[in-house]
Amino acid sequence: MIPRLHFAHLPTPVEPLPRLARTLGLPRLFVKRDDQTGLAFGGNKIRKLEFLLAEAQAQGADTLITAGAVQSNHCRQTAAAAARFGFDCILVLTGEPPERASANLLLDGLLGARLVWAGGREQRERILAETFEQAKADGKRPYLVPYGGSNPTGALGYVYAMEELMNQKPCEGRPPDRIVFASSSGGTQAGLTLGARLFGYRGRLLGISVDEPRGRLQVRVAELAAETSKKFGKRIEFSLEEIAVNDAYCQAGYGVLTEAEREAVRLFARSEGLLLDPVYTGRAAAGLVDLARKGFFGKEESILFWHTGGQPALFAEAYRDL
Ligand SMILES: *Cc1c(COP(=O)(O)O)cnc(C)c1O
Repeated sequence: MIPRLHFAHLPTPVEPLPRLARTLGLPRLFVKRDDQTGLAFGGNKIRKLEFLLAEAQAQGADTLITAGAVQSNHCRQTAAAAARFGFDCILVLTGEPPERASANLLLDGLLGARLVWAGGREQRERILAETFEQAKADGKRPYLVPYGGSNPTGALGYVYAMEELMNQKPCEGRPPDRIVFASSSGGTQAGLTLGARLFGYRGRLLGISVDEPRGRLQVRVAELAAETSKKFGKRIEFSLEEIAVNDAYCQAGYGVLTEAEREAVRLFARSEGLLLDPVYTGRAAAGLVDLARKGFFGKEESILFWHTGGQPALFAEAYRDL
């Protein structure tokens, strides 16, 4: 048995998006609501944290330490999970403290996390390591939650998410022909990729890269999926051709809102009342919209957009002109 704490609201619903499908000329479009995983506004990191926190508990840790961007959803969800299970939480954030905290950053403080500001991104690894050593020197028992929750333990969350989807058979009694989602640190895609192999999903996965060149993300996902597979027995190898990544929508850089994200976020909101986030799902949806318009998808294809959360960032200063 793989140790796991159960605190996510699962299974997350799958809903049809008929009005949006009609607008985009897609025959069947669905959404998997992992923005509804339950804890502190939810998101995809909650699934990973079920396994990471079980490991932290097993190791006798009392403090969770992780790192991310100022508006990191991962950091907010880690802070919430820490509070829920009685861990202290230290977050190492890129950049300088803003004058006023908003959105995810405001929630980090509300959830009781201690913030360490790393300045430039190139210093973050060093400051994270120093923070970890300092916690030990202070007599704490720290556990390092990896960036984005993406290591073999965290990726387990999405291995089992694929099993969950297969049991739901959500698209007119069948699994979807294709699953589209935002991909960044690779744990979601690695977990889904391995889950597809283990639980017999025969459709296609398509990760829309949020901030990484295609080749680099493919290599990371393939390696992480293979490493994660060892938890189920023998290591399974994945070729790069099996890891579908589209990096055509990340040229503006991480977290930079362009007209494409703005249009996609508005389109989802106004045709289905469905809120995306500006950084991840907004970018993935921009890709979905563009690909649909270019006729990339098959005439009969059922498509599932896997919503990975992140909506608190809608309230960040940086996205006020959404
Ligand atoms: C972290 C995150 C992702 C990316 O997931 P990875 O497993 O890091 O690839 C996608 N969407 C949202 C909202 C996220 O917070």
